[in-house]
This record gives sequence, C-alpha cells and structure tokens, in this order.
Amino acid sequence: MEEKTFGLNDVVEMKKQHPCGTNAWKIIRLGADIRIKCTGCQHSVMIPRREFEKKMKKVLVRHEEE
Ligand SMILES: [Zn+2]
Repeated sequence: MEEKTFGLNDVVEMKKQHPCGTNAWKIIRLGADIRIKCTGCQHSVMIPRREFEKKMKKVLVRHEEE
C-alpha cells in the first residue's frame, strides 16, 4: 500500500475527476482545510483535510524542494 503523503504544490489525482475532464489537481494551500486547483480549468475548491485524504487517490507529481 502506498502511503498517502502530500505537500504543498504537489499535483494529485482524485477519485472523481473534475467535470472539465481533468483529473490533476495542484495543492495550493495546506491547513485544516486544503485548497486544490484543477490544472485543466484553474477552478479551485477548498475541502476539509479529512475529506481530502479520503478523496485523494494518489500523488501524480511530487513537488521537490531544493
Ligand atoms: Zn477542471
């Protein structure tokens, strides 16, 4: 099982894709609530962290800090 770790600026795949047809979301805010932005249409949504962890499928692109 892959561990569900994620960080700011990571691009993640959700269990449900966005109606625009894209399923790649960038994490733009981390906190008790998490804001993710659809990389297809730039629409952003804020969801509680617990809900995000349930709905997130996997990290597609991990943001590397240098
Ligand atoms: Zn979208």
